[in-house]
Amino acid sequence: MSNDTPNSVVSEEDIPLEPRQQLFVDEYIVDFNATRAAKAAGYSENSAASIGSENLTKPNIDMAVDKAIADRRKRLRIDADTVLCKWWQIANADYNELSSVRRVACGWCYGGALTEDDEYETPVVDISQEPDADCIKCRGEGSPHVHIADTSKLSPTGRLLYQGAENTKFGIKVNVADRMKALDNVARHLGMFKDTVNHVSEDGSMTPTVNNFNGDAQAASQAYQDIMGGK
Ligand SMILES: [Zn+2]
Repeated sequence: MSNDTPNSVVSEEDIPLEPRQQLFVDEYIVDFNATRAAKAAGYSENSAASIGSENLTKPNIDMAVDKAIADRRKRLRIDADTVLCKWWQIANADYNELSSVRRVACGWCYGGALTEDDEYETPVVDISQEPDADCIKCRGEGSPHVHIADTSKLSPTGRLLYQGAENTKFGIKVNVADRMKALDNVARHLGMFKDTVNHVSEDGSMTPTVNNFNGDAQAASQAYQDIMGGK
């Protein structure tokens, strides 16, 4: 053990950064290009390359870079929470908000064609009315009608689900976010698949144990944070 270093000497790591060095650190973590960062921090074009690489060898700058990366990771964790919550919303969303199949009055329910001759004329369904329980044609079942929502008036969750629409030869096709993929993403982030693959679960079956949050986004988010915070 050596005691050569007097107490008055500040460790190299603790030397405060000059403003330009701090700028260099801020720029460096953008793309990890030391030369570009040096130029952006105001060092001359000619010396940027050499100063950039030299800066990275300085213990205090190296420490500052590590800290800046760690700080950013902390900030990104918050973003990951936000993303997780959105996936959770998609996984639990009601797709009926975008499009739904409704049973409406068939063409014969209310004074439509009632004779055998009219059978193949296929009168237009009346989407404004419920099926007539006494209808001799549909016997109150009505006809299926696909209702597509006004997508400019969707709820925030609906907007997450809605991925655009297109005209196809079969009619309008509404594209929606993939619920199973969203659920899969949530489960992976919560570590639910960890240690369950290739393992026999507690009841002896090969069925992986899955936590059930009963639609409680807060509980799911808490479990996620526990996992992320628990190291
Ligand atoms: Zn009918």
